[in-house]
Amino acid sequence: TETLHIIGGGLAGSEAAWQAARMGIPVIIHEMRPHVGTFAHRTGDLAEMVCSNSFRSDDSEQNAVGLLHWEMRQADGLIMATADRHRLPAGGALAVDRDPFAQSVTRTLLDHPLITLETGEITALPDHGHWIIATGPLTSSALGAAIQAETGAERLAFFDAIAPIVYADSIDMSVAWMQSRYDKGETEAEQKAYLNCPMTRDQYEAFIDALLAADKTEFHEGETAGYFDGCLPIEVMAERGRETLRHGPMKPVGLTNAHKPDEKPYAVVQLRRDNALGTLYNIVGFQTKMKYGAQASVFKMIPGLEDASFARLGGIHRNTFINSPTLLDNQMRLRSKPHIRFAGQVTGVEGYVESSAMGLLAGRMAASAILGHDLPPPPPTTAMGALITHITGGAEAKTFQPMNVNFGLFPPVEGLKGGRRGRKDRYQAYTDRAKTDWRDWLAQYALDAA
Ligand code: FAD
Repeated sequence: TETLHIIGGGLAGSEAAWQAARMGIPVIIHEMRPHVGTFAHRTGDLAEMVCSNSFRSDDSEQNAVGLLHWEMRQADGLIMATADRHRLPAGGALAVDRDPFAQSVTRTLLDHPLITLETGEITALPDHGHWIIATGPLTSSALGAAIQAETGAERLAFFDAIAPIVYADSIDMSVAWMQSRYDKGETEAEQKAYLNCPMTRDQYEAFIDALLAADKTEFHEGETAGYFDGCLPIEVMAERGRETLRHGPMKPVGLTNAHKPDEKPYAVVQLRRDNALGTLYNIVGFQTKMKYGAQASVFKMIPGLEDASFARLGGIHRNTFINSPTLLDNQMRLRSKPHIRFAGQVTGVEGYVESSAMGLLAGRMAASAILGHDLPPPPPTTAMGALITHITGGAEAKTFQPMNVNFGLFPPVEGLKGGRRGRKDRYQAYTDRAKTDWRDWLAQYALDAA
């Protein structure tokens, strides 16, 4: 049988190796640590958690990341099984004892007769064979440059600049209205691409005060702020002058308040449709280093967003990721070099769990291909399927930024109450449907496993 090579033995690479090996495929993991380090990793262990020790919520009925845990457990995921063994008490969250966790993943993989570890940095794209690149947010610069030479500079980012994303159904449409600036856009979909929230002068001044006063996160050592000149955090724009935002992302020109056509807003916050389903909107230009707690309270000062629920809050981090919607097919293969797959955070998912999940799929897909057939991606009604569908097609390619799993990525379940009141029932319906569909998908393709 042909060998699968995996570059990067992080969360995604480890899970991919496990999945392929359990399907009978020999695997070589190429990991650069401990010879070459990153600013965040401390050890030479595989699957090292670089920051928090939490896999977030373990609630598989009301939470999308908890559902992803459940789906990975059903698929015999190594990361989840090991996390469960090294679980620490943490209420509803899955927190783990990080060093024993990583050591245990490492031992399990190295003990597997089909898995080999080769230590060393890979600096060029391989030209033949079966490969998965799972080098994560801190992909080494040599390999980053090689990927960029293949994809084009504008399709590989070294930083994310994430604006907060709001669930469409939590926006107060008696205040906000739909309109693109200067009514640009040919089609109805283009005209519906923007929502607008108006501010009076007093509201704007209070908002600027809150931005200036908010708690912010510092950059990690080794992260350079110099990269961000094109996409400054909003609070930095506010520091440059109280009027800067009103002449930048919050400019009120080219827009008419549909609810109060005679009143000219002093400033306007725009939200842009973030996915094909129209369930998510991002706040345009609002990338930020404010702490999460501060973000929620500051952004709820925006008229129309008083009751907003956030699918994700904003951030700016060192993060290498490719423009998956344009570069990858639904098998996670690089369209221009289909012998190379990508997995993990470098595909534009965000977080330990999501990265492991994309490793699980890429490992199974690569192993299936070596066994002679393509494994169809799981249906978008599952957490796995929702994520892979988002990164390989559902997301807006032009504004693509890393994404956490969330229910806004799932096709809506019809016939349920909207708004905050119906939320619990809706989440239950999403997770019930996902579990049925994930079990069916696993059963249908179970023959692939050895
Ligand atoms: P990684 O786990 O980073 O694995 C990639 C591996 O590839 C690494 O072992 C690296 O050494 C190796 N590698 C890189 N380049 C090469 C090369 N050229 N040749 C060989 N090997 C190579 N997520 C959370 O869920 N919670 C958090 O609290 C959190 N905090 C974070 C803090 C920081 C500073 C950073 C940078 C990221 C954080 N993340 C967090 C995101 C987290 O890193 C990822 O979600 C997760 O580790 C991604 O898994 P991965 O397998 O894609 O990448």
